[in-house]
Amino acid sequence: MNGSAGAQDVLWNLGDLYSGGEDPHLEKDLAESDKKADGFASSYRGRVAELEAADLARAIEQYEQILEPSGKAGTFTYLNWSTNTEDPARGALLQRLQEHSSRLQQKLLFFELEWAHVDEERSGKLLADPALARYRFWLNLTRRYRPHLRSEAEEKILAEKYVTGRSAWVRFFEEVHSGARYTLEGQELPQQSVLTKLYDPDRVQRKRAAEAFTQGLQNMKRVNTYVFNNLLADKASDDRLRNYPSWISARNLANQIDDATVEALVQAVTGRYAVVARYYDLKKKLLGLEELFDYDRYAPLPSASRRYQWQEARQMVLEAYSGFLPEMGKIAETFFTNSWIDAAVRPGKRGGAYSHGAVPSVHPYIFMNFEGSPRHVMTLAHEMGHGVHQYLAREQGILLADTPLTTAETASVFGEMLVFQKLMSLEKDPQIRLSMLVQKIEDTFATVFRQTAMNRFEAAIHTARRSEGELTAEHFGELWMKTQNAMFEGSVTLSEDYGVWWSYIPHFIHSPGYVYAYAFGELLVLALYARYQDSPEGFPAAYRDLLAAGGSNWPEELVRPLGVDLKDPGFWDKGLSMIEAFVQQAEEMAGV
Ligand SMILES: [Zn+2]
Repeated sequence: MNGSAGAQDVLWNLGDLYSGGEDPHLEKDLAESDKKADGFASSYRGRVAELEAADLARAIEQYEQILEPSGKAGTFTYLNWSTNTEDPARGALLQRLQEHSSRLQQKLLFFELEWAHVDEERSGKLLADPALARYRFWLNLTRRYRPHLRSEAEEKILAEKYVTGRSAWVRFFEEVHSGARYTLEGQELPQQSVLTKLYDPDRVQRKRAAEAFTQGLQNMKRVNTYVFNNLLADKASDDRLRNYPSWISARNLANQIDDATVEALVQAVTGRYAVVARYYDLKKKLLGLEELFDYDRYAPLPSASRRYQWQEARQMVLEAYSGFLPEMGKIAETFFTNSWIDAAVRPGKRGGAYSHGAVPSVHPYIFMNFEGSPRHVMTLAHEMGHGVHQYLAREQGILLADTPLTTAETASVFGEMLVFQKLMSLEKDPQIRLSMLVQKIEDTFATVFRQTAMNRFEAAIHTARRSEGELTAEHFGELWMKTQNAMFEGSVTLSEDYGVWWSYIPHFIHSPGYVYAYAFGELLVLALYARYQDSPEGFPAAYRDLLAAGGSNWPEELVRPLGVDLKDPGFWDKGLSMIEAFVQQAEEMAGV
């Protein structure tokens, strides 16, 4: 392990949720949500279509009050499990909460279903009523699932079987990968520690780490192939039962974006794959290598060996956020001073990073594994963006606070851009500036090009599973290599080992179709940032309002006041051209 770089004591305090897994308030909240749900069902079940506007508004308020305590308990158990996935008591509590949430969902299902089934004439009248103004958007959102819903009895069965079906497989996958150890130079290391070594300046180290990771994935190949196949099949039957025309349609509907807009995004990005090759040709020269292999992609430039202590990372993130808008800096500071962040690396803690929005009556929590690299500083900047967004959007209430994935990454990526500019402005050494720019390019590539290539892989495996049946590990590997090679256009040599690296990526498992949202978010942010640079006057305040609006309107409506038109096909190209300009700037700085 690399050490926590001063973050070893940065542990979150979950006391604002509960004092621990044994806290009697947790049981009380569960019981309360059950009791309220029963009362709710006996008051409204079978009657939603008859409710007048004011009664419907009251019903929705009650609905929120049921979701709140159960969401609070669910948040706690997930967070509590994240920091020690090897503790059976935490695992058992998490499973119990998932079962509870499923039972609650079954009790409440009728409400959204009955509303979705209200005929157009009556729903139109209700939606026009001022008594429902606060919930109008949510009511509209719920109705868009109308063509894809089953009867209440069928929905109940689907919800109940979900717990031991998809949800159980996702947890199994996460536990297998959290518990996996990779043998590197006689040491047994967890995933995160091995992957961190891919950023090592020493090529031999990187190659060994890549080999150790490959070997570990090879050992798990049968399990991973089985889990992938099973979840692909589960998704196929879900889509068939719900009349979704393609594997991505359900995701697009959830993202509040139409299939054509997503297709245009994918086309625009794959159409600019040449930028990837252009960049890796430059990187080859900067590293002085004849040939670039997959394990060289993240190699730092010779001068890029800066490390950061937690306190420095904290200060830079706070200064960058305050410099943009003081209110945002203040909110960010609260996360540190109130222990809403868990950053220390320790055994049993799951990998990766997230910001969990919790429930509106509490506040978000940030989870990460800080080891002091510039990348970890960017992760903090990223998750803080989510955290501030979730914090501001709490005022929308539990039904409207969350944004769809398409705009969920806006604040996080914008936060990274702010911190990047801050770091660049402080750095005087031209070599380090170049390596920082290179880092930024690689991060942008990871979100735009890599995620789009992964979207192509996902499209290929979902389509293949549907037409060909169960897929072999080798077939997964072929599709992975094909979609990866398409992106690199020969600029990076992918070794045969790399063919198994599809099998650890959690997004394919827990959120099918998720990955394009990163590309969407990044390109949206590049466009927003360009606007901010062109005319900073009034921008931070409008941006703050965008965050505070949460998910209370369609994405294209939310970004309109900031001068962005998502329907404009030239919009994606504008962001892509900014990336190419970064590459050109790096070429100029490098003098090649
Ligand atoms: Zn994110």
